[in-house]
Amino acid sequence: MTSTAIAVRTIGHWVDGAEHVPEETRTSPVYNPATGQVTGHLALADEALIEQAIASAQRGFEEWSGYSIAKRQTVLFAFRELLNARKGELAALITAEHGKVISDAMGEILRGQEVVELACGFPHLTKGAFSENASTGVDVYSLTQPLGVVGIISPFNFPAMVPMWFFPIAIAVGNAVVLKPSEKDPSAALWMAELWQEAGLPDGVFTVLQGDKLAVDGLLNDPRVQSISFVGSTPIAQYIYQEASRNGKRVQALGGAKNHMLVLPDADLDLVADQAVNAGYGAAGERCMAISVVLAVEPVADELIEKIAERIGRLRIGDGAGADGVEPDMGPLITDVHRDKVASYVDIAEADGARIVVDGRGVQVDGCESGFFFGPTLIDDLPLHSRAYTDEIFGPVLQVIRVGSYQEGVELINSGRFGNGTAIFTNDGGAARRFQHEVQVGMIGINVPIPVPVAYHSFGGWKQSLFGDAKAYGVHGFEFFTREKAITARWIDPARRGGSEHSGLNLGFPQND
Ligand code: NAD
Repeated sequence: MTSTAIAVRTIGHWVDGAEHVPEETRTSPVYNPATGQVTGHLALADEALIEQAIASAQRGFEEWSGYSIAKRQTVLFAFRELLNARKGELAALITAEHGKVISDAMGEILRGQEVVELACGFPHLTKGAFSENASTGVDVYSLTQPLGVVGIISPFNFPAMVPMWFFPIAIAVGNAVVLKPSEKDPSAALWMAELWQEAGLPDGVFTVLQGDKLAVDGLLNDPRVQSISFVGSTPIAQYIYQEASRNGKRVQALGGAKNHMLVLPDADLDLVADQAVNAGYGAAGERCMAISVVLAVEPVADELIEKIAERIGRLRIGDGAGADGVEPDMGPLITDVHRDKVASYVDIAEADGARIVVDGRGVQVDGCESGFFFGPTLIDDLPLHSRAYTDEIFGPVLQVIRVGSYQEGVELINSGRFGNGTAIFTNDGGAARRFQHEVQVGMIGINVPIPVPVAYHSFGGWKQSLFGDAKAYGVHGFEFFTREKAITARWIDPARRGGSEHSGLNLGFPQND
């Protein structure tokens, strides 16, 4: 082993309260995107392991769903405390496999932790309702129960936060979770599994099933899996929605995005330029809420492009883990394949006649020559028919499209196939109010570029950004992970037994009185 070589381990599954590495298994490589080195081999589940994982989760559900609310709450609070105390370890793991800078990894953990904190208060949101004397001598009440084993399938870009959009609520209300993380950064899920165990969660309630399409299809087809929560690209979200629905499961499948920021001429252009750079290039553009398109209502486009380009010149690109105590602004992309795909979209834009104002192709980082880096890129004059405009690129590529009016901008946003996030920048409250009313998008920012709702509201887009009826977390999360029973009960007052309250034979449809 040379001094620069690193230990490469096989990354296993988490089943029955322990990491499980099968002796013989298919594997897929896990990289440190900043160095391009393989840092692990991920064990990919086969049919036997899928069966083992779901059977364990079913046993976990049977035990956990019998725990009292108070006991479940104790475990939730313990998980929250452990996560808060040790989040630095998780951030380092995320950066090592995803590439985002440490402070950004910490940011995703904190947003996930907000959902854990919301879930700690689950009794209030699941306590049902009671109507005394709904009909004479009859009470009606509702109660909520967990679904059973629930599947979560997550993407590479938020290996901690996206699973936490779902599992804290799912577990709080009594379900058992099988999480299928992305193959590209699987270690965060294992770390969280260990944390749950430390917090006192019984074995089998949180299972990590590592794998590819085989594992996903295993969850989609197994009748013991009651629901699927998916986040990823639109074509896979559509597939998940169709298959899970066909198999009678509850499903929420969040897909891709192409988020536009509309800039009115009265906006503060320095604020706009700062926010466009933050939201366009943060996490190297690998965020479903990244801003990809700035719609500049003329005459501000030239000035805005100049301000954005100047700011790009100040960005530092490098290993997200930082060197000599200095953190860069932007890390690498997830794989070399993805970097080449992002580059191909810049090629397409150029071939379609766009002007590449700042070109991130071929960027090199000293000391990280084999890393998967791509520099911040700014594009002007992109024709609307170009695939570089119509497709989601998922990289640090910001496009400025010039429009003649507010109305033209809104029509462009509404004509897109995605509807995840959007933003308007203006000092005109009336215009902002009209925008929030007429734009066909699920999450809207007003002078805010990445409007990820807080945990007690819900997260989800419209159109091809979300298949299914339930958004993630918030009230939607509690509704998704529980089912309700409505109970109609008659208890006859002991003083009147055998009297007039016994209504005798009546084959008519029951009426309330
Ligand atoms: P992806 O669709 O490639 O993968 C997501 C998950 O699906 C992974 O666990 C993967 O293993 C699995 N998968 C991949 N191909 C599959 C197949 N053929 N059959 C079954 N399962 C399959 O997405 P990604 O590249 O990991 O993540 C990036 C995408 O996720 C982007 O499109 C981004 O916009 C989207 N995303 C959306 C949101 C949102 O809230 N709407 C949030 C984060 C990411």
